[in-house]
Order: sequence, then C-alpha cells, then structure tokens
Amino acid sequence: MSVASEKALVPFVSVDNMMRLVRSFGIERVLTDLASEIEADFKRWPLFDKISRVGSHSDVGVIELMPTSDGEMYGFKYVNGHPKNTINGLQTVTAFGLLADVESGYPILLTEMTLLTALRTAATSAIVAKYLMPKNSTIMAMIGNGAQSEFQCIAFKAICGITSIRLYDTDFSATKKVTQNLQGRGLDLVVCNSAEDAVSGAQIITTCTADKKCATILTDNMVGSGVHINAIGGDCPGKTELHRDILFRSEIFVEHPAQTRIEGEIQQLDADHPVTEVWEVMAGNKRGRSNASQITLFDSVGFAIEDFSALKYIFKNALSAKFYDYLDLIADPNDPRDLFGMLERFKA
Ligand code: NAD
Repeated sequence: MSVASEKALVPFVSVDNMMRLVRSFGIERVLTDLASEIEADFKRWPLFDKISRVGSHSDVGVIELMPTSDGEMYGFKYVNGHPKNTINGLQTVTAFGLLADVESGYPILLTEMTLLTALRTAATSAIVAKYLMPKNSTIMAMIGNGAQSEFQCIAFKAICGITSIRLYDTDFSATKKVTQNLQGRGLDLVVCNSAEDAVSGAQIITTCTADKKCATILTDNMVGSGVHINAIGGDCPGKTELHRDILFRSEIFVEHPAQTRIEGEIQQLDADHPVTEVWEVMAGNKRGRSNASQITLFDSVGFAIEDFSALKYIFKNALSAKFYDYLDLIADPNDPRDLFGMLERFKA
C-alpha cells in the first residue's frame, strides 16, 4: 500500500479496466459518445496547441509522441506503428496516454490507449464520414481486416447507419476473424475475393491496411464517382494506400495539414495541393460534400486532439464508474522543497 497522499496518487486505467468500461457501457454507446466528444473539440479547434506528432522512425516502424492542450488540460499519447509485428505475435499499434492539469502541471490520468486508439480512430472516421458520405449510405467496403477493423465497422453502423460491410484482406484468416467477431451485431457481412470485389456497390470505402511502403490498395479505376473514401492506413512517411491519380479526382479532407502533408496520402502531392481541414466543415466554415458525384477523401493519419478528446472521455467516465486504480507516480514530500529529506527518511 502506498504512503503517498491522495493528491499525489494518479488514477490509472489498465487494459482490464478499459475493457470493463467498454463492456459495461456497450461499444456502440462508447463509440457514439467518443464521436460527440471529438466533434465538440473539433468545433473549438483554434483553441488548441497544435504541433505535428514527433516521430522516431526506423526501418521497421515508428514510435510517436502526440501532445496537445486546450489551456485547461494537457494530454499526450505514446503510440507505435510496426506493420511486421503481427508475424511475431505482437500488435502493429500499441499506445498509452496521459492527461494533466495545466494549472498545476500534475498528471490526473494515465491510461492504456491501445484499445482507446482503435475506438477513437473508428469514432473519428465515422463522425467525419457523417459530414462527407453520400446521403443514405448503407454499404461500406472494409479493406484490411486487422486490429482496427471491427471497431470501424461498428462505428459506421452506430454513427452513419451502415448496414452491410464488404470485407477483404490479403490474409483470409483476418477476414474470417472479423466475420466471427461481428456475428449478431446487425451487420450483413459479405466476404470478398479481392479489393475490386469489395468496393463494388459500396458508397464508403475504408482502407485500413498496414505495410511500411507506398502500396496501391485502390487504383483509380476502382473508385467510382460519388463515393467517400476513409483512408486510415497510410499514416507515416513512405506509407500510403491510394494510387496518386485518385487524389486528383477527390476533394481531400484532413486533420492537421502540416502533419498530413508528411504522413498522409497527400505526401504524394505538391505541398500546395488544396485540402480542407475537417474541423472547418464541422464548424460550418467550409463546405463538406457539395454534390452527389463528388469523390470525398478523408486522408486520416490520426491527430493529437482526437486522443485528447478520448482521454477526457475516459477521465470522466472511468473515474465516475470506478474503473481505475491508483498509481504512486508523483513524489510527494511533506515540505514541497524537501524532496531530499523525504528520500532520507524513507525506510525500504
Ligand atoms: P493490423 O496489422 O492489425 O492489420 C492490417 C491488416 O491489413 C492485416 O490483416 C493485413 O493482412 C492487411 N493487409 C496488408 N496489406 C494488404 C493489402 N494489400 N490488401 C488488403 N489487406 C492488406 O493493423 P491495424 O492495427 O488494423 O492498423 C491498420 C493500419 O491503420 C496501420 O497502418 C495503422 O498504422 C493505421 N492506423 C491509423 C490510424 C489513424 O488514426 N489514421 C489509427 C490507428 C491505426
């Protein structure tokens, strides 16, 4: 048992507690609530500190820090992306994050964010699609059936009204996993033999593959007029999913342009290629989809404000539902200036 005083104990949400929260609230409610939280923060975008994430790249992946603040709270996420990890039984993406009080600088929450990243990414994709997708969309192609995919499918059902998912992955066992995991969730699941097959008849195309290279998951001829593309797998320099020609036919929407120009699909384009910031559409400053034949593309890379919204949501809900432990993380001497004395008096 820690001897630290309560003010120095930091609430900690473990993976188990995150699962408890999602299972007890219901995943559709969590995704819908997160989407509202993200939408509300996007609408006050100018208030936030915004810097592109700080990436440390290697031949096999990337480790990133994603900080932001709204002036009252500060948050950051540590996240990795290692596409070959799954071969060794490890995940491509893992994460944890922290929320702090700006007034004192003290941490107020430390939490797992591997599950939370999948939830916030899906919530972001779906709330953005709500502004951009063709009216009354019901069919989505889901290309890449890995760790993120079920979260995406459920978010698009709960938030956008998607009823049918056309699944494709180069590894059939991944698709089989999704069909098993999503049984009984009110989605019509169609297993497809190719990406071409998957996009056939879909109004929304989600690409969520992982490979550290410039891949071509979608070629130009596969994208018909009027579709919305939710491209989330290309999120790192040298890692893209769409053929460049698709970008020239699309109205492109991004999170933070400075970050997306380095990491997103638009790294394939000139630095002045026009893009619209998603927050401006949500705030009513800019138009989203302007006509039924337009191709809209959300070039998603994941931005710190989405994680901040998710951290706030967990802070409110995990604490009120008591799904947390305490961590003895902050040294707490009786006299704040007597840190050394605290160490001297400590009996192991
Ligand atoms: P994962 O490794 O669990 O799954 C990726 C899947 O893609 C695998 O099943 C793999 O077989 C499949 N795949 C690879 N190449 C393919 C191809 N050519 N055609 C069809 N399927 C193919 O990874 P994950 O955790 O699901 O993440 C997927 C991607 O999303 C990663 O690149 C990750 O970095 C990215 N991501 C983006 C955001 C964001 O905010 N934009 C957030 C989280 C993850």
